[in-house]
Amino acid sequence: MAKIKAIRGMNDILPDATPVWQYLENTVQQLLSGYGYSEVRMPIVEQTDLFKRSIGEVTDIVEKEMYTFEDRNGESLTLRPEGTASCVRAAEEHGLLFNQTQRFWYQGPMFRYEKPQKGRYRQFHQIGVETFGMASADVDAELILLSARLWQRLGIRDAVTLQLNSLGSNEARAEYRQALVDYLTLHKDQLDEDSLRRLDSNPLRILDSKDPQTQTVLESAPLLSDYLDQESAEHFAELRRILDDAGVKYELNPRLVRGLDYYCKTVFEWVTDKLGAQGTVCAGGRYDGLVKQLGGRPTPAVGFAMGVERLVLLLETLEAIPADLRQPFDIYLAAEHKGIQHRLMLLAEQLRDQLPGLRVRVHCAGLKNIASKARQTGAPLVLLMKTDEAGELVGTLWHNDQPQFDLGEAQLVSAIESVWTR
Ligand code: ATP
Ligand code: MG
Repeated sequence: MAKIKAIRGMNDILPDATPVWQYLENTVQQLLSGYGYSEVRMPIVEQTDLFKRSIGEVTDIVEKEMYTFEDRNGESLTLRPEGTASCVRAAEEHGLLFNQTQRFWYQGPMFRYEKPQKGRYRQFHQIGVETFGMASADVDAELILLSARLWQRLGIRDAVTLQLNSLGSNEARAEYRQALVDYLTLHKDQLDEDSLRRLDSNPLRILDSKDPQTQTVLESAPLLSDYLDQESAEHFAELRRILDDAGVKYELNPRLVRGLDYYCKTVFEWVTDKLGAQGTVCAGGRYDGLVKQLGGRPTPAVGFAMGVERLVLLLETLEAIPADLRQPFDIYLAAEHKGIQHRLMLLAEQLRDQLPGLRVRVHCAGLKNIASKARQTGAPLVLLMKTDEAGELVGTLWHNDQPQFDLGEAQLVSAIESVWTR
């Protein structure tokens, strides 16, 4: 019978890789708590309408990337393609938004039916950060400073650049939209198929087209920055001022629009040239209209999401992974003969009692060539136990291939403690 395989674009993350994931997740978690953010955990499945109403009907995600299915009761459900909509839904549903400021983060799998390739999967993971109730540009700046600090901590600061734009108010965008449509209509015959379709439904998305001919047309297109309303322009100037003062470099990219409909004012992306086409590792922006759009009271909001797979790839590409990360235990314990295996198990428990934090792996089952097998595990410490003539347990402890022979039970803990590097 044919073996069952994983779904295309949905990956197992195996023991070789999980330490890097944990390292990344722990670093982010520590950093976010240092900025006073709280974690929220939302369900993976939501009503389909939540995403249609937030992300927008005429976006790639809603048009062709969602995993939508009918529940047994006929209700249309969708595996979340992103976290912002769920986060807003959860916060609103539990009364966390009215007259309050909030700083949240979440992490977990997202699902999009895309063409799988390096850095693009059908189940992928995001760490998202969302703030609510703050309209001023200082919090936009905080999010960018926070992400810049993360790259610093991860040792990838030099590999990413910040792209920044302002989309302005809804009114400003509507005015710009008309100017863009007028211009693109004149060059209709040079647009790719997707862009042509978007001309009526979602013309701003055309700015994001990867088609070379469309890109050439776009070079002379009107610029959103010329249509910014005064409030958005001031908001943007304040954000840039804080970034300038903090020494965070950015590139102004007037064509940065983002693939979701709910953004206004600030949008940004952190991009790398080290991962080929899938170069955006973190993206976000302001979405002051979304809470109201989903039925809540008007609430300013700004957030971003990082792509965990892409960050892991980047850490691996840059070899920015702490050296000892992949070794899952500090000491490997083995018995020379079967008759003392039960005593070895107890010894391992004693070590865990007395040296909390020491990661102990015990050799179970099979004793052939035990001494060399134990030393091949690559553990920094190896302990091989036997019994002496008096029937007492004695051990040989190897530390980086240097043996200490005939350690009695009473000396073991201190011998291990003195060479163990935590
Ligand atoms: P892209 O332009 O690469 O398709 P996007 O604009 O669709 O990205 P967002 O919805 O803003 O992406 O998601 C935020 C981040 O999540 C992206 O910057 C990226 O790092 C990551 N991401 C998005 N889609 C995928 C995917 N299919 N596989 C892996 N990571 C993804
Ligand atoms: Mg996408």
